[in-house]
Amino acid sequence: MRFIDNRHIRVPDGWNEKSQQALDDVCNYRCSVNDRSAVWRDLKDALAELSHDKCWYCEAKQERSDDAVDHYRPKGRVQEANGHPGYWWLAFDKGNYRYSCTFCNSRRKNPATGETQGKGDHFPIADENTRALKSGQEEYEECLLIDPCKAFEPNLIDFRVDGTPCPKFPDNPLWKSKAENSIYYYALDHQEVREARRLLAVDLESWIEEADKAFKKISAGNNDFSDTFQGRVRDIKSAMKAEARYSSFARRVVADHKDLVWIETLLQSN
Ligand SMILES: [Zn+2]
Repeated sequence: MRFIDNRHIRVPDGWNEKSQQALDDVCNYRCSVNDRSAVWRDLKDALAELSHDKCWYCEAKQERSDDAVDHYRPKGRVQEANGHPGYWWLAFDKGNYRYSCTFCNSRRKNPATGETQGKGDHFPIADENTRALKSGQEEYEECLLIDPCKAFEPNLIDFRVDGTPCPKFPDNPLWKSKAENSIYYYALDHQEVREARRLLAVDLESWIEEADKAFKKISAGNNDFSDTFQGRVRDIKSAMKAEARYSSFARRVVADHKDLVWIETLLQSN
């Protein structure tokens, strides 16, 4: 997961008016929230643009499905709060939208564990007594799902080299809980995505090894290995770029080698 600055969504012409009209219609009982789903669907491309078409939760490249816009605060109901109507007042608020793949967004069974994962209508918070019932009360909630649009929060997740996600700060109970809930509800440990990360780590390790061998030759005055070194460094840098799939994991793998002088420079330059 990477931090996504969602303050600058390029909304299509007339979108703000349409969104306001939809909220008015819902408030005046002229329609249900889902009758105006075109409002958030119309913003799909603008949201995708902010993340180079990657899911904001897991960094997988997202196919253009109709359900790609997740409401961070669920719009219709909340599984953790029986009888809660959902955060319907945020249904047309672009600040509540997260671009998401179906693994993270929709409830489905994880074949490896048999557990049903995916965010769906889940929105756990630390204290149910603070659950917002109307606009403006959300600021009192301590959300237990990491928000990719909040600086630092994506950093609460760490990875093992085999691609398995885990809490980065296990000694901090709140941060640990946020990481664990996010791994579970966003299905960040789904077999498919874990395997994709593992394969990326295999590539990265081989590029690092090759680049380091070349670097040692160059350090000893042998410039025949310069092209090899430059090529592998470019490969490693590309894997860490914002547009690359699972780039935060790639960065994590590379950071494991920061004792190598050229890697340290690479991490600083990215
Ligand atoms: Zn995803």
